[in-house]
Amino acid sequence: MNKIDFDRLNMHMKKPECPCGSGEGAYEVLDSRGIYLALGCEKCLPERLAIYREDVLYGPTYEADEPIEPEAY
Ligand SMILES: [Zn+2]
Repeated sequence: MNKIDFDRLNMHMKKPECPCGSGEGAYEVLDSRGIYLALGCEKCLPERLAIYREDVLYGPTYEADEPIEPEAY
């Protein structure tokens, strides 16, 4: 199962307690285009989101082509 990177997900707190019974807050997760994907907490979301590809969850991976500039002395 993929590890879910919650920091990169488009998620919003919806309920103080997740229906799965974990006692954790439940979040609504949207995909990179704002389409609803799932509702759950950090315990059960990895299972719910396992069916989605990474680019659906986090958006297309943009190339990090920013050159790392050497320090100017
Ligand atoms: Zn849950």
